[in-house]
Amino acid sequence: MTTPLTILRDVFGYTSFRGAQQSIVEHVTNGGDALVLMPTGGGKSLCYQLPALLREGVAIVVSPLIALMQDQVDALQQLGVKAAFLNSSLGADQARSVTSQLQNGELDILYVAPERLLMPSFLSLLERLTPSPLVGEGRSEGALIQGAIALFAIDEAHCVSQWGHDFRPEYRGLTVLHERFPKVPRIALTATADAPTRAEIIERLQLESAQQFVSSFDRPNIKYRIAHKDNARKQLEAFLSAEHPDDAGIVYCLSRKRVDETAEWLKTRGWDALPYHAGMSTALRNANQHRFLREEGVIMVATVAFGMGIDKPNVRFVAHLDLPKSMEGYYQETGRAGRDGLPANAWMVYGLGDVVSMRQMLDSGDAPEERKRVERQKLDALLGFCESTACRHQTLLRYFGEAHPGDCEQCDNCLQPVDTWNATQAAQMALSCVYRSGQRFGVVHLIDVLLGKSNAKIQQFNHQTLSTYGIGKDLSQAQWSSIYRQLVAGGFLESDIEAYGGLKLTDTAKPVLKGTQEVWLRRDAEPASKTSKAERASRTKEGYEAVTDDPLWQALKDKRMELAKEQGVPPYVIFHDSTLLEILNQKPQTLDEMGRISGVGQAKLLNYGDAFLQVLEEG
Ligand code: ADP
Repeated sequence: MTTPLTILRDVFGYTSFRGAQQSIVEHVTNGGDALVLMPTGGGKSLCYQLPALLREGVAIVVSPLIALMQDQVDALQQLGVKAAFLNSSLGADQARSVTSQLQNGELDILYVAPERLLMPSFLSLLERLTPSPLVGEGRSEGALIQGAIALFAIDEAHCVSQWGHDFRPEYRGLTVLHERFPKVPRIALTATADAPTRAEIIERLQLESAQQFVSSFDRPNIKYRIAHKDNARKQLEAFLSAEHPDDAGIVYCLSRKRVDETAEWLKTRGWDALPYHAGMSTALRNANQHRFLREEGVIMVATVAFGMGIDKPNVRFVAHLDLPKSMEGYYQETGRAGRDGLPANAWMVYGLGDVVSMRQMLDSGDAPEERKRVERQKLDALLGFCESTACRHQTLLRYFGEAHPGDCEQCDNCLQPVDTWNATQAAQMALSCVYRSGQRFGVVHLIDVLLGKSNAKIQQFNHQTLSTYGIGKDLSQAQWSSIYRQLVAGGFLESDIEAYGGLKLTDTAKPVLKGTQEVWLRRDAEPASKTSKAERASRTKEGYEAVTDDPLWQALKDKRMELAKEQGVPPYVIFHDSTLLEILNQKPQTLDEMGRISGVGQAKLLNYGDAFLQVLEEG
């Protein structure tokens, strides 16, 4: 008898379901519609792949990620699943061949780009499909419903939302599926957690009667750290050298220019770094993405154009050299680390300059005022998060409406609790210096005034006569800079675009100046490199890094790379790191024992079992 669990074991090689997977699989297999909200790495693919194998007919998976379909299909074929894809990257002959496989009922799963699916000719082809003549044989045995189409899966369903930066207009047309194939179950999946996007997905895809499966969005294996920026490149390199000398990861920058410069600089420093942004040719972008996916230890320096659907499981870090635009952005981008559940780092540096330029960018864009207001609020929420001294996991999840007990031991604030201090008096000095100098100067000059410096600009504006001149000598330049950053982040000050980014007071500053409101600020930690040894040790405890010096680990990885190269697929399509790690730890001696390793299903056991047993024997 074919059940979800037997397929999970035999085909995928996993012993048990994760979280809501089983209920989702059962619900969809029984013909129900579903909306699945699950974090990246939560295991969404199985939620449609298993029903695809359990139900009669072919599952049609709509995905916007043309460049990644090949890898998704490769991964399924490795498991012995009959999968194919149809999109504009295929030549006419290849497309014809896939179409005929589809018509002959030879496919379990077909990935299609939305624009292809919505072509009238393709839709009528789907309508004309008839149930496979193989019903009753092989895997079709036990199928619950006889039909030519098993289900529609709508992956990356948030692409239907016009507010997100992944908006794809063609996704709006997908309502046609419900209208033309009312009996075929639909499952929409996304890792975008916020309530407005969820509501929009339901409305736009007419999923009002679908059952919703909302998982916890916590990513316990990701360690969040945010440090203040003093020298971004130096800080990045210290972080990479200390914690990720050989790992694959993503470095996010705001602008294309910064991406190019940073990638170039990392290369000159001996790192295997590649750029990725929308200003590059499609061919070059794809080539870089290809290297990132297929080779080990490549660092992708990118704008947010990179990342959606990247299912490379062993991205070990995501570093932000610039602020993301919102909490949603931060969560999505950092979420690309550690899909395999092994320890991963989300690391960010940011400074006052970022806050100012980000606010200016929002204000000077030509979006309607209403939208700008929403974006400003989103940025403020992110800034509050950056400056917060509370548990990052807790704060992040609270933003998405989920409770977390705190004390995660997986963020900077929990690992090294941050000191706060009563900065009311210093804040008054800083704010009053802004006021006295006419609310049009930038922070460098304001600090010079507070420190009582004597330079040309001070002379020019006669600022040595201000009452705030030299009153801040008890604090250092760095401390004032930290204070100004936090005052801007906290909304007490804003940058004035017309005055070239000079700072001016907001209404929030008034009670502080009047002395009716206290201001508590965080005491910035020392640069991260000082703590990295301890952090490294804590990672070693998790058992991952400890193995990287083991020659047997290298031998297993080499074998994996050799097999991957032979077939032109990414190494993780052969085995994930987590599977390889289990092979290393368990050291199976027979095929039977190998088959019990998580991630080794029947097809992979047959194809690779002996090769890896041999590596173990020789090691
Ligand atoms: P998502 O699409 O939600 O980001 P994936 O479907 O890519 O996540 O799954 C993330 C990782 O977890 C993949 O490597 C997948 O093989 C693995 N995985 C999913 N479900 C299970 C399970 N039940 N047991 C073990 N590993 C699983």
